Amino acid sequence: MALTTQQIAGLQVCTQLFPSSSKAYEDCPDSNLVGRHFGHVPFIALPINTLWQNGITLNVRFMGTDGSTFVREKVKQYANTWMRFANIRLRFVNEGPAQIRISFKQGSGSWSWVGTGNLRVPDNQATMNFGWFDNNTQDYEFSRTVIHEFGHALGCIHEHQSPAANIPWDVERVYQYYYKTQGWSREQVDVNIFRRYSASTTRYSEFDTLSIMLYAIPAELTTNGFSTD
Ligand SMILES: [Zn+2]
Repeated sequence: MALTTQQIAGLQVCTQLFPSSSKAYEDCPDSNLVGRHFGHVPFIALPINTLWQNGITLNVRFMGTDGSTFVREKVKQYANTWMRFANIRLRFVNEGPAQIRISFKQGSGSWSWVGTGNLRVPDNQATMNFGWFDNNTQDYEFSRTVIHEFGHALGCIHEHQSPAANIPWDVERVYQYYYKTQGWSREQVDVNIFRRYSASTTRYSEFDTLSIMLYAIPAELTTNGFSTD
């Protein structure tokens, strides 16, 4: 389904979170001098230092009373999509310890901690938030947002920040666009858009323009008309 530039501008975007002591951001260079090297993980990029153990079962728990039964069931439904592809199990629990803890704070965006960074979050705090779901949310929106945030929880970074990404950004327009649509400072744009991860600290594939971990990029933000939905 192709989106118009206006529809893309209306999409909420997510920010990925790392503990402040994590090396992930430090290892994420701000230059474009990243060599191309194709790893063994198909079509995704993951920082090596926040990978979960193979085959691990991750408990997932909803926090508080926000989020209707309908919304919670949709989150479960789409989160479980990952079990068809990742060597990992998600187990939704009602109480007790859980590595992934979900809140539904409206207006504070949708976001998730990345990989084992989840373990650094105090037990009484959420590791993932869905900030715009309600009983009228369409399946398309549940699907794209839930699969994306759980991708972060499993350790995936934004695909446009993969060492293999080489998007010809129209830099000044990108700053203006994200200031206008998300209220981001230039520094936030640097961190969330331009910086790419180092090849030596990331497992990654060839850049995947269809990745669920990729932002929607309107053609007006690139110098050669490149765009993604
Ligand atoms: Zn994200």
